[in-house]
Parts: sequence; structure tokens; C-alpha cells
Amino acid sequence: MSNVPFSTSRDSVDQDQFLNILSREEALEHFEAALFPRAIPTEQRPLSDALGCALAQDIVAPIDVPPFDRSNVDGFAVRSADLASASEATPVRIMLNDEVIACGTAPIRPVLSGTATSIATGGPVPRGADAIVMVEHTQPVGNRAIEIRRAASPGQFISYAGSDIARSEALFRAGTVIGSREIGMLAACGIAQVSVARRPRVAVISTGDELVQPGQPLRPAEIYDTNGAIVASAVSENGGEAVFLGAIADDEEQLEAAMRKALETCDMLVLSGGTSKGAGDVSHRIIARLGKPGIIAHGVALKPGKPLCLAVCDGKPVVILPGFPTSAMFTFHDMIVPVLRRMAGLPPRSDAKVTAKVPVRIGSELGRAEFVMVSLVEGADGLIAYPSGKGSGAITSFAQADGFLRIDALADQMPAGSDAEVTLFTPHVRVPDLVIIGSHCTGLDLVTAPLARAGLSVRSIAVGSLGGLAAARRGECDFAPIHLFDEATGSYNAPFLMAGLELVQGWRRMQGIVFRVSDARFEGLNAESAVRAALADPGCIMVNRNQGAGTRILIDRLLGDARPDGYWNQPRSHNAVAAAIAQHRADWGVTIAPVADASGLGFIPLTEEHYDFALVTARKERPAVQAFLQALASDQGRAALTQAGFRPA
Ligand code: AMP
Ligand code: MG
Repeated sequence: MSNVPFSTSRDSVDQDQFLNILSREEALEHFEAALFPRAIPTEQRPLSDALGCALAQDIVAPIDVPPFDRSNVDGFAVRSADLASASEATPVRIMLNDEVIACGTAPIRPVLSGTATSIATGGPVPRGADAIVMVEHTQPVGNRAIEIRRAASPGQFISYAGSDIARSEALFRAGTVIGSREIGMLAACGIAQVSVARRPRVAVISTGDELVQPGQPLRPAEIYDTNGAIVASAVSENGGEAVFLGAIADDEEQLEAAMRKALETCDMLVLSGGTSKGAGDVSHRIIARLGKPGIIAHGVALKPGKPLCLAVCDGKPVVILPGFPTSAMFTFHDMIVPVLRRMAGLPPRSDAKVTAKVPVRIGSELGRAEFVMVSLVEGADGLIAYPSGKGSGAITSFAQADGFLRIDALADQMPAGSDAEVTLFTPHVRVPDLVIIGSHCTGLDLVTAPLARAGLSVRSIAVGSLGGLAAARRGECDFAPIHLFDEATGSYNAPFLMAGLELVQGWRRMQGIVFRVSDARFEGLNAESAVRAALADPGCIMVNRNQGAGTRILIDRLLGDARPDGYWNQPRSHNAVAAAIAQHRADWGVTIAPVADASGLGFIPLTEEHYDFALVTARKERPAVQAFLQALASDQGRAALTQAGFRPA
């Protein structure tokens, strides 16, 4: 990084931009001020293609609905005065006219006094008639007459012309969002075309040399373009027409050409990635050349999403979202959706909110409004909001959350036990039927599969064994999956249970040394000699596990005092260990057999780890808990676990 004052180097330009960090509110205000008010272009759309659009004009009913007086039942059109004296004791005999009025047939003969005309539901009421008698309330007398034993009130079973919608009545106001109900009313009035706010065309471009489109093979160091798909669908969800232009490499010339082309045909441009100060982050430099006034905010006091860049180029919004998918999604929803909806003539999104208790302390950076994705579960007295444990690089922290809470820029934490307002991603809280909080294992999905098929919703929140036990003790979950080894007793799990919890045996996972097949340093050896061989070779790199993991205890025992190269590489999951070895970043490590198999690695068994469940006794009788216990004990469940390389207890 350059420290030279007044330098015109790229670093100091970027530095300047990040020195002027705006608050979320200021940034949004400046952005909107540069864009609105503006005329909203309109277009004619056929009704069949207008779903979700906002009406551009008031709509006045062009006809009466129904267009004529209509029978609501199958029966006979009569003159009510003829039946004034009708009763059980004194039936009135009425002659039938030589006509049957079906739906879609206009009547020909009038109903004169003493006569009636047969009429179907939906048929037009004939001249002279003022009431309909249901067929069930009549008795045939031959086939030319009927007898009626009750009086009819005038208007009985008739829908009068215009009683549903009256001609020239205001049907909808401009701005109404067209849903299926609105479409129904427009169709009833015979309206085939409506004038709607034209959907803004939004060009979507992902940037990064590392990006590959889904469906294409992934080469080393590449990742799939996630933001392209997210942003394009979020544009459609909010009234825009997404024009996805793919991923462009971090090349200033290529990118500028793509951005110029996008702005020629679209109303808005949304890029993602390349907005921070990293090498090759070029998009914001290009924006300055694309139109006035250019960049409005680059750097917003928002977490996730600090590097967000908002610009307006000759009236068109140009946005660079941060590269991390969760940051991209969050900033898009928080800062871009309000603008997009306004351009689409749509009302602001109405967010549902609930209050929930935060079970653990959430740390926060001072000076930035922080948004924390949370999963909701039902606690003993009210909702609990679990913060997503994964960072802003994790797609699941947004996609699997129920909503988010906000920690004020001036707070450095939200203490455990606080009540927080949670903004929901969906209109309603969906409390899961079964809640599993603790250590995660791929075997879990095999056991819960039949529950999902039976329509029970399962939420599993990975917080590790100890976090799970704490949640279970507070009654926030049904089960806490744990795999904790007790050195004192030399046994798993049972010594860790507290009052109110009981142990349900889960399955065993074989832990072992993993290496690439045909690595002569390990192939065919037992664990002890394999470790000896690895330690003897100074070029051999290991991959460790994080402090506190059960696997780490095993590794430390194997190593004794040795600290070979790679010891300080301490990932938090079995899969990361396998990936490091498969990708030649390390040569050996310790993981569980199913993970080793899935990565095609060699495996030297060490010991079996017990993966069990702490069940909250008070919740044992809940149907979903019973369903889980059944699935766990079932032949199918055990077979699925066995097939995946686990050993059911
Ligand atoms: P950048 O802002 O370009 O430095 O990106 C920050 C991080 O987000 C990097 O790890 C990128 O690989 C990642 N990233 C950027 N764009 C995308 C994308 N479209 N899909 C998934 N990850 C992305
Ligand atoms: Mg990038």
C-alpha cells in the first residue's frame, strides 16, 4: 500500500474513497436524491403477461358485471306476485312457457302472469319475471306445469346487472400491483390489455477471473459464479427484468466495453465483485468515465457490505455489490431493492418483523451498522434468534436464515438474553417442527430424510457440541448432537449430560489417517508407523484440526511433542482436511471414513468416535421428536447410515 501523500497512484485513490464512508442512511438518501423524482416509463401488456406489474393508470369498469340480470340457481323465473298466496296448504299451479333458458341463451318469451320459464344458473332473467324459484321447491304437474308451495320475494336468487361491478366504477388505482385477483376482475370486465409501469431492464454482470458459470467444469482455484444467479433472480422478484451478461474477467478494457454496452440497452447496471482495494479491482475506476454524476458512495458503514459502491451515470443507477455472496445479497436487498422497486412503480416492500431473544452474545464492530442473519426456533417462552455462525463469505448464512437483526453502529455487541427485532425474509415465521442444535454430521441428513418426506420441517444449526449442549439446557432445541470425549472416564458423551437431558445413542464414525492413495509413505502401514514415516520426512506436510475438536485430541496424541510442518493449519471441518490433502496442499491428516471415501483418499483406521444425541427430556413426547427417534432406530435409517460409512449404535 502506498503512503505517499497526494500521490495519484491507484492505492491512494482507493484510500480516499474509503476515507469517505457514509452511513447507510446517508448513502441511500444521496443515491435516491440523484435518481428521483423521475418519470416512470409505461407500456401496454396483455393481461396474461401482466402478473406482478404495477398499473400505470386508474382503471374504470367499461361494462356492468354481470352485464344482465342473472339467475343464481337452477329453477324457474316467475312473477313473485303470482305466488303471494302459496303455502304448504295452498299450492299455486303455474303454467310453463315453451322455453328453457340455458347459460348463454337470450330469452325470447316474456313471463306473463300465471306462467314461469325454466332457467339454469347463469341464465338471463326474462322480461316480466322478478324472482327465481329453486327447482327443489317445485313439484312437476305433467310436463307443462309446476306447483309451488312457498311465496317468493321479489329479487329472490337474481344478481342484477352491475351488482358485482358497476360500469364506470373505479376498479383499481394506478400503482396497484397486479395479482391473480386483480387479473380476475380485469378479465371479468373484458379488459385484455393494461397499461403498466415498464419493468426496468437491469443488466447483471459478475466480475472476477476466478468465476465459472454453473454447469461448466471447475478447474483449480476457480469457483462458481453465485452472485450472477442471486442478483438476476432478486431483480425479477422485485419488479425488474434481469439481463444477465455473464462473468467478465478483471480486465479494465473488457469490463468497460461490457459496462458501456449494458448501459446502452438497460435502465440499470448491477455488478458484483472487484469493489474493494484488491489487485485487479477496476470497476469503480471505469464508472467515473461512464457518465455524470458518477460515484455517489463508495464505502458504506454497513456490515456486511462496506465496499458497496453506488453511482448514477447519466440518470441510470450503476451499482457494484461486494463480491462475497452474502454481502452481495444483503446489500442488494437493503440498498438496491428500494430504488429498483421505485423505478418499477412498485410500493416499498413490506417487511414482517418479530421480536426474539438472542441466546448468545453477538460481538459487533463499532462504527458500522451490523446486520446479523438469524435462524428462528421456538424457545420455552418465545422465539429465539440464532445468529448464523458462518461469515459473509458463506452463501448459507443468508439462504438458510429466517431473517436478520440489526446491531447499531454505536454498539460493540448485543448481549446474550437481549430482545431483538428480527426482520423476516418471508411474511410469516416458520417455526420448524424439529430443532437440532450442535455438532453437524452428514449422517444427520440421512436420518431426517423420512421426516421431511412426511412434511415435518427440520432445522439443524451447527454450533459444535458444547454450543449444542448449552442450547439443549436452555430448552432451545429438541436434540443436541455431540461427540465429546471425556479424558477422565475414557468415554464419550454420557459424562457431559446435565439434568433434564438424556442420551440417545447415535452412530459411530471411524476416525483415521488420510492420505492420497499410492503415497508410499503411508500405503500399507499401520497408524503408528505411518505417523513415524511422516515425521521422518521433512518434506511431508500435515493438516491439523481446530483446538476443541475431538479429532484434534487424537492428532495431539499421535504427535506427542512433534510439531511438523502444517501443524498450524487448523481448519474447522472434516471436509476441509480432505480437500487440503486431495488438492496437495497437505499430505496427511485425520478425518472420518465417510469423508475420506467421498474424496477418494487412502485411510488408516484409528479409533471410533461416538456421535450421539442429548435429548431434551421435556420435549420427548413431541411428534417430530418421536418421528426422529423412530427414523434413527428404523432398518432403513440404519441401512442408510451403514451405506454411507457410519456404524449405527
Ligand atoms: P472481490 O470483491 O472481487 O475481491 O471478491 C471478494 C470475494 O467474493 C472473493 O472471494 C471472490 O472470489 C468472491 N466473489 C466475487 N464475485 C463472486 C461471485 N459472482 N460468486 C461467488 N463469489 C464471488
Ligand atoms: Mg474479484
